[in-house]
Amino acid sequence: MTCDFGISQSLNLYTHIPAFLISVVLGLFVLMVGKKNPVNRNLFIFILFFCFWVINDLFQWIVVDEKLNLFLARIAVIDVISLLFFLFFAYALVGKNLNFKKKILFAIPFIPLFVFMFSDFNVSMSGGEQCNTNFGPLYWYVYVLILGYTLWAISVMFFHYRKNRHDFKLKNQLKLIMSGIFLDVLWFVTIMSATYISVKNNYSWGDKFFMFTPFSMVIFLIIITYAITKYQFLNIKLIATQVLVYSLIILIGSQFFFIQNRTNQILNGVTLLLAIIFGIFLIKSVKAEIRRKEELQDMTEKLAIANDQLRKLDNAKSEFISIASHQLRTPLTAIKGYASLILEGTYGEVNQGITEPINKIYASNERLVQLVEELLNISKIESGKMEFNFEKHRIEDIVKDLSDTFVILAKDKKLYFNTELPEEPTPEVEIDTSKIREVISNLIDNSIKYTRRGGVNVKVELVKNATWKVKHQFKSEKPVIMDGAAVKITVSDTGIGIPKDDLSYLFSKFSRGRDTKRLHANGTGLGLYVGKNIIEAHHGKIWAESEGAEKGSRFIIELPLEQPK
Ligand code: ADP
Repeated sequence: MTCDFGISQSLNLYTHIPAFLISVVLGLFVLMVGKKNPVNRNLFIFILFFCFWVINDLFQWIVVDEKLNLFLARIAVIDVISLLFFLFFAYALVGKNLNFKKKILFAIPFIPLFVFMFSDFNVSMSGGEQCNTNFGPLYWYVYVLILGYTLWAISVMFFHYRKNRHDFKLKNQLKLIMSGIFLDVLWFVTIMSATYISVKNNYSWGDKFFMFTPFSMVIFLIIITYAITKYQFLNIKLIATQVLVYSLIILIGSQFFFIQNRTNQILNGVTLLLAIIFGIFLIKSVKAEIRRKEELQDMTEKLAIANDQLRKLDNAKSEFISIASHQLRTPLTAIKGYASLILEGTYGEVNQGITEPINKIYASNERLVQLVEELLNISKIESGKMEFNFEKHRIEDIVKDLSDTFVILAKDKKLYFNTELPEEPTPEVEIDTSKIREVISNLIDNSIKYTRRGGVNVKVELVKNATWKVKHQFKSEKPVIMDGAAVKITVSDTGIGIPKDDLSYLFSKFSRGRDTKRLHANGTGLGLYVGKNIIEAHHGKIWAESEGAEKGSRFIIELPLEQPK
């Protein structure tokens, strides 16, 4: 008996042949880009199964012999095995190479397809002119296989990604693969619904929509091929070069068929020889470039891992400093207390000889207390645990307060100490008073420390249109552009100045100027670093200016009147 499908053969060819050709090209491309890569190999086999299905489907609409048609419909079930290779592909993509035993094990559920392929459990003919087919119980099993293996493959990729969130390549590939699956399903559902609706309403085009089913898979294949080969672009370059060189050689070689003239033949021979030599050279150099880039890529990946480990180590170190500093605080306070008690004569009269050493103990202890405070500040900054108590406060009041102490200190060093405050009081600013006080105090302290002659001037003024960009060093928030009025504090001195090269790194951790040690051996290089972090937490700006060594320095802070909302 022969069948009459009632569809035009041109529609059949138009929908199936392009799908087949595109898939063949994609498959060959995938294989060419990574012949030895299991990801590419499994994807290639997956595509091959689809090609088989398209051709089978094409012939099912052509072959009118009922028996042969049934045979084709039955062997179509083989296509489901493609999902096994999709699973292997997923494992390979996440870098897990399945051994042969496991592969066989995973293939076992596909055995029933072969056992029942030629029985009525699979497709059977229901007769009629259109050779309608019935799907037997095997198809329920097929649906379970499709769903199960697809979900299995997806979960292999997802679980791996959840464990390796920094694997951005896999993340992008996963996104593409998932959107491919989504589009595939969407296309299929749309076609099925369109077929259903049009058949129900007896539209003339009615039952022809489903001829477009192959394209759902083609869309998926294009996306998945792109997702995989995108990251193998180095090989693509090599393939392109090889194709170019070979076609050039073939082109020049084919000239021999057209030219009879001896001279021209010799010339063509020379051209061919040159093309071959340059071609070999070009391919070799591309290969070398690829090797270098691959090495670079490899190194970058290793560096990223090392970087990650360093960050963890750095966190552990901050934690350690924090704990150690806390532990140091108590005994230091005790030393300070007992030293002052001794000096005050609480433990009996203090003779002249002992006063000086005790004073030295006291001073050294003070330095240690300061260091511990700074280390604690740093570990707080770095772990993001620095707490701020913002309140409205006037900057001049802080400066006035500080000047009482520093006037005496400057006098001891025979330096002048001036303050220049605005006639009209500056508006109050929202700040953590004690922290801002600490920062300004450190600037003035430095100016006195690093000045031998002359003195120090502290100026407070209101600036109307200050603009700057703030980005926290340890917070990942985006930089904020500050724009508007600000209170500006300038601490200038006539001291040792700062060489141009030093200006840029004074505010980094543990950084000290080159000449500084001569003048003040005990500095830590932490004060400015802590200060910068505190000022930036207020969305302010701090920087240093100096005409050079021995020409004095200016340290400037700008604090915005309004904090960004
Ligand atoms: P410390 O003063 O403990 O070394 P700081 O972080 O406060 O640490 O300062 C870092 C470095 O900046 C100093 O070592 C010094 O080289 C330089 N510096 C700071 N203030 C001045 C200043 N007023 N004049 C010249 N150099 C300065």
